[in-house]
Amino acid sequence: MNSIASQPVALLKGVGEAAVKRLSYLHLHTIGDLVHFYPRDHEDLSHVIDVIDIVPGEKATIKVKIEAINARRAWKRKINLTEARVGDETGSLRVVWFNQPYLAKSLEVGDELYLSSVVKRNKMGLVMQSPVHEKVTSHAPTHTARIVPTYPLTAGITQKQMRFFIKQALERVLPLEDFLPEKIVKTYKLLSLTDAIQQIHFPTSKILYDAAKQRLEFNEAYLHQCMGQLLRKELHERPAPPLKFHEKEIKAFVAGLPYRLTNAQRTCAWTILKDLTLAHPMNRLLVGDVGSGKTVVAAIALLNTVLNGYQAAVMVPTEILAKQHYASLTQLFKKYKLRIELLTSETSKEHKKWAKKTSTQAQVIVGTHALIQSSVSFSQLGLVIIDEQHRFGVRQRKTLKEQTEHSDMPHLLSMTATPIPRTLALTLFSDLDLCVIDEMPPGRKPVKTHLVPPQKRMDAYQFIRDHIKKGEQAFVVCPLIEASEKLVLKSVTDEFERLSTEIFPDLNVGLLHGRMKADEKERVMNQMRRGLIDVLVCTSVIEVGVDIPNATLMVIEGAERFGLAQLHQFRGRVGRSDLQSFCLLFTSSNSSTSRDRLNAFTHKNNGFELAEIDLETRGAGHVFGTEQSGFFNQSFLNFTNSKLINDAQEAAQTTLTHRWHETFTPLKQKIQQFIAAVHLE
Ligand code: ADP
Ligand code: MG
Repeated sequence: MNSIASQPVALLKGVGEAAVKRLSYLHLHTIGDLVHFYPRDHEDLSHVIDVIDIVPGEKATIKVKIEAINARRAWKRKINLTEARVGDETGSLRVVWFNQPYLAKSLEVGDELYLSSVVKRNKMGLVMQSPVHEKVTSHAPTHTARIVPTYPLTAGITQKQMRFFIKQALERVLPLEDFLPEKIVKTYKLLSLTDAIQQIHFPTSKILYDAAKQRLEFNEAYLHQCMGQLLRKELHERPAPPLKFHEKEIKAFVAGLPYRLTNAQRTCAWTILKDLTLAHPMNRLLVGDVGSGKTVVAAIALLNTVLNGYQAAVMVPTEILAKQHYASLTQLFKKYKLRIELLTSETSKEHKKWAKKTSTQAQVIVGTHALIQSSVSFSQLGLVIIDEQHRFGVRQRKTLKEQTEHSDMPHLLSMTATPIPRTLALTLFSDLDLCVIDEMPPGRKPVKTHLVPPQKRMDAYQFIRDHIKKGEQAFVVCPLIEASEKLVLKSVTDEFERLSTEIFPDLNVGLLHGRMKADEKERVMNQMRRGLIDVLVCTSVIEVGVDIPNATLMVIEGAERFGLAQLHQFRGRVGRSDLQSFCLLFTSSNSSTSRDRLNAFTHKNNGFELAEIDLETRGAGHVFGTEQSGFFNQSFLNFTNSKLINDAQEAAQTTLTHRWHETFTPLKQKIQQFIAAVHLE
């Protein structure tokens, strides 16, 4: 962007102190910000008709002369009414505006106007009420008689003002230097950057608008790809310890498991073991639906690393999950006498020395973010496994990389149960190789899911009680309240009160939420694990990792507030044994779209399909829950467009091959800016 773009909005005509403040609410500070503030919609008012062709009840845009105009007080002098008679060669009609007294001063008889609004017919003939008006001049119109943009607004700024500001911003900033190499623009038949920006705001036709949108989407997908492929290349050039495949021992480990690996688990484990033998770092994402058995695949990689004399670290987003993994791995490696350690923020804060010592001596270390803090120093780190990886942004991956800047890079395996649609993975995780466990262990009974109508709530509680009497356990997830953590806390504690005193006074009801201290959380989870709690009321903290095979009931309150992929994660907390499990959804929403979504959820058990629906209907942010929606809200890219995403991938490959990212300065700068922005996440 050129230097004009970084100048303040106050330089524009009509932008006074008040407007500066109001624009800042929309994060619009500079002229460049306005240029990139894209319309949320457009209205096609380009079809200008003659007065004679007006159809009462329909919206019309007309080009007319003012024949008479005056303003007066009406309705007990409460309202200022501006009335005009306007017409063209084919006829005339009445126009009224309410409370815009200045109109009678700025408009006069003989002025030529464009007018747009619905036309009504009453006793006095045809009338337009408060139409959008714009004087006809030698310039192209802005607010009428064209495809008109509508912007997201804030109080005190009108569409007309916003268009006026943006139009000026465009005049000052355009033309822009294009950062895309000419060859790419040609090959993919893209609009130039200047045309795209102009057309996205003030399209001269639908076709050009679509082309503009496509160009801007391409920009984003392409920059993601360039970044991903550059990271990939950079990693490829770094040394990593080649870890030999200890075939005999690994086969013995697999043979000693209480179950047979699924084919998908076998294939993924094999691919990972092969990656580990290479002298550059593995950088792989293992995707597998909840319960597909990713832990044991990770364990195979861990064991092989330790057998090579290297350390392995497992990093997870929550303490609950860290403890869970620590327990499962200890169990899986019972026979091997490995030194497995748990390192969380409490343990490492309280015992810095201990943390340091542990991290140098342990063979497998399981922990939270604490693992990438500076008191931790590994002696021989060969493999890092990150579970539920989407919670760790690019920044954490980068820290890890920098921590090992002067030695070999460890191999990296990320795991996620979020079924990430292919196009989304290709874009956001283009630096990672992907492998998918697309098969569930045999014999799992699909969780039976029901949307419970409000009048059946008591029956549902009876149903839960019957199962608990048989020794089973239940989770009750409280609604997601995005606005405030306080409200979430209130909703979960209220629900806990209600269930423990009114509904299940005779049962053991537990409470778990994110604001509880770590040791409290642990105590509750332990009680749940040992069957001392019958019903656990919780927030979305239990979304990932919790493995309690005896829990067969999942109740979700305010289900409409969650994305389908997230609901699927909750549902994955039950159905973890050979008992039949149930997922009961409650919603207070009457909207038919949210009911349709929830109904679809009740008969779809495949996480990938649900994620695809989320992606199409609610956008990428919802596939990951809400944490990253800020990032996605700013995104222009429709992540379902696989043609565009494939093109961008190919274009980025061509770019790197020709080294345009180094030789073509505008591109070089743009990629740097993009990487900096993503790293801020
Ligand atoms: P996730 O992929 O969600 O992390 P886990 O690794 O926690 O899944 O596995 C879920 C459960 O399935 C665990 O209790 C695990 O012991 C069991 N499991 C894993 N693989 C198999 C298999 N091949 N056959 C039967 N059970 C398995
Ligand atoms: Mg898991």
